[in-house]
Amino acid sequence: MTATLPTHARALGLTDPDQLPAYVYDLAELDAHMATVRAALGDIEVYYAVKANPDPKLLQVIAPYVDGFEVASGGELAHVRTFFPETPIALGGPGKTDAELFADVTRLHIESPSEIRRLFAAGRSADVLLRVNLDIPISGASLAMGGGATPFGMDPAGISECIKLLAGQDAVRLRGIHAHLASGLEAPAMLELVSAILDYARGLGATEINLGGGMAVSYADPDARFDWKTYGEGLAALRRPGETFRIEPGRSLSVYCGRYVTRVIDVKRVHGELFAVVAGGTHHIRTPATKGHSQPMVIEEPGEPITIVGQLCTPKDTMARRVPVSLKPGDVVEFLMAGAYAWNISHHDFLMHPKPNFRHLRG
Ligand SMILES: *Cc1c(COP(=O)(O)O)cnc(C)c1O
Repeated sequence: MTATLPTHARALGLTDPDQLPAYVYDLAELDAHMATVRAALGDIEVYYAVKANPDPKLLQVIAPYVDGFEVASGGELAHVRTFFPETPIALGGPGKTDAELFADVTRLHIESPSEIRRLFAAGRSADVLLRVNLDIPISGASLAMGGGATPFGMDPAGISECIKLLAGQDAVRLRGIHAHLASGLEAPAMLELVSAILDYARGLGATEINLGGGMAVSYADPDARFDWKTYGEGLAALRRPGETFRIEPGRSLSVYCGRYVTRVIDVKRVHGELFAVVAGGTHHIRTPATKGHSQPMVIEEPGEPITIVGQLCTPKDTMARRVPVSLKPGDVVEFLMAGAYAWNISHHDFLMHPKPNFRHLRG
């Protein structure tokens, strides 16, 4: 086939319009990003939160830079075990089935006192962290899993109940405290949250503390990065001898390496507004619909503001609003920051359009 696609698409290894829509993962970019993050964190343990993107080729690149994987279901656990039989795994999440609660993992994150009772009743042993939801104000977060009544983790009364249950037995070993309270925080705000978590965890005598994920990612500025250096230095300054700190980021690790590339099918003006309809849409990349943002994209040629939508029969299928870019049918549109909570959170089967292609670039 003749190369009909523009330079920016060919640079991603895409030569033919029939290959679109496609997810393109730049594994070399991911590798470089992981090296930077790892270097900033010293001996803080890092587990990658697999739910952000479980693509096996991404996991292979991430694995050498992390101490383990954090999984949120039996499905993720089986998936990770297939590729990494030896790597430490932490399993968390509310609503664990027996199969999940009794799984053989390195760390089990306990979400309620009844999970402890179920472990006892089944005669199971496990190494557990108790997931706490502290009632502390969390401002500036894009999502809050804690700081008030949510189904995630336990309030301090629930934690005390677990500690009482765990006393005087040694099958279920209490290893420490887990907290994942918010997502979308920058390093200084994250470090304030960490201080509050540490005050609480040290009060209980915990020396192993999982501080969660949720490092900020800015879809408005694809070049911005969470300040890993400040965060790493801040954690190193807070850590006391004998303490193990662990974090479990997802989005901030995998988001940048992914692109969703598609082509314009139609351009039209309705009541004065310009619209471009592209192949695929939010059933392939639900991120702009869930977050209500304009997915960042490559702007080849500036033009009149145009709203870019997908092929679904719903106004929610909007990829980006009023972007100053010139588009005509056949043009290629390259969306950025499509490496996390994108393909794997999408409703692929709605309208039964074809699935996208997947390509992995190795630099
Ligand atoms: C989703 C999740 C993470 C990862 O969050 P990111 O915002 O992707 O960094 C970490 N820990 C827990 C418990 C989670 O539920």
